[in-house]
Amino acid sequence: MRAIVIGAGPAGLAAAACLVRQGVETRILERSDAVGSSWRNHYGRLHLHTARGRSGLPHHPMPDRYGQYPSRTDMIEYLEDYAAHFGLEPQFGVSVAAVRPAEAGWVVHHSGGEDRADAVVFATGLNGTPFRAELPGIDGFSGRVLHSSDYDAPDDLTPGRVLVVGFGNSGGEIALDLAEAGAEVTLSVRGPVNILPKEIFGLPITSMGLLRKIFSYRVADAITAPVLRAKIGRPEDYGLQSAGKGPAAQVIEDGRIPLIDIGTLGAIRDGKITVRPGVDRIDGDTVHFVDGETGAFDAILLATGYRVDLRAMLPDTPQVLSAAGKPLVSGGESGAPGLFFCSYKASAEGQLRQSGMEAEEIARLVGTQGGV
Ligand SMILES: Cc1cc2nc3c(=O)[nH]c(=O)nc-3n(C[C@H](O)[C@H](O)[C@H](O)COP(=O)(O)OP(=O)(O)OC[C@H]3O[C@@H](n4cnc5c(N)ncnc54)[C@H](O)[C@@H]3O)c2cc1C
Repeated sequence: MRAIVIGAGPAGLAAAACLVRQGVETRILERSDAVGSSWRNHYGRLHLHTARGRSGLPHHPMPDRYGQYPSRTDMIEYLEDYAAHFGLEPQFGVSVAAVRPAEAGWVVHHSGGEDRADAVVFATGLNGTPFRAELPGIDGFSGRVLHSSDYDAPDDLTPGRVLVVGFGNSGGEIALDLAEAGAEVTLSVRGPVNILPKEIFGLPITSMGLLRKIFSYRVADAITAPVLRAKIGRPEDYGLQSAGKGPAAQVIEDGRIPLIDIGTLGAIRDGKITVRPGVDRIDGDTVHFVDGETGAFDAILLATGYRVDLRAMLPDTPQVLSAAGKPLVSGGESGAPGLFFCSYKASAEGQLRQSGMEAEEIARLVGTQGGV
């Protein structure tokens, strides 16, 4: 039994480790030159929002010395150590272009040629392709435009007037980073939001999934709502729109991860970050918001997320993907024997934990069924 894993991020390493433990001959193909490439590119101040104890990958936990919320550099060190621990040696600089069904198994076409395997595991990540919101007039904006994936530290944007577009976890943290460094920050928030504190009663918020194991997600949301309101208030208190549903419902029904507040709300309350609604249009250095207000800016930072689209990589197997190219099943049987997707399902309890659980299930399926 031979398997190929595409991607040497957390999900790919976890999948490969679990496959190796099942005795499956496993190769990892990675287009960059190191494990955990996405973590190497994230902004400097990043720490995990999920607690260390629930963020380690299968069969090799994170060391205690990383503390409760490991840093970005801890994460990189951990992934290097994880690969070494299981003897995983990804082939770097190999970019997979397409995976096609063969008479038996699969053919993986990549920048170094092609390879056959009985099982193929996609672990190319939810954050592979930055999504740049198309704001009317942005091409004529007189200042600098960058995506959150291009952002490392506030240095070259301060002092200055920066518009951060999008209030997800990246947008919230980068807005705070810029405000703390002295930039004049405006946050454009187009739609409703769900915001969670990082901890409740001293426990990491991502541990609250326990409630969902006992109750339905709607009941769990109803139980936590008064606690959340007492701890951080309502979105309306910060000039934001409430999502109208709880955080668990948002993840399960919409596949959207709520914002975990690491201090951004305090900065809004203290007037260090101004909240505005969606952008209507841009004219020179002036941004017109949908409420009729305007503002002049030196830079626009698009924290508008990422997209997954695997259609070009799976030209003969469209039935395993949604119309937009996202895998329909992640961490289970995809519908095409021997083809698996690891960590394409958003999880309220942390994507790293989700990656590990899906990796174990995929390895079990490959090991017990031969994946074919
Ligand atoms: C800013 C930020 C903070 C996060 N914080 C947390 C957190 O606190 N806790 C948590 O649980 N999760 C967090 N996540 C979510 C998630 O855990 C990470 O994004 C994680 O890196 C996902 O792992 P992955 O292996 O699925 O994808 P990635 O880490 O993106 O790895 C995918 C790999 O596949 C490679 N690849 C892609 N396409 C190809 C190809 N065609 N051929 C070969 N190789 C390819 C890429 O180069 C990359 O190395 C965070 C995400 C972001 C963006």
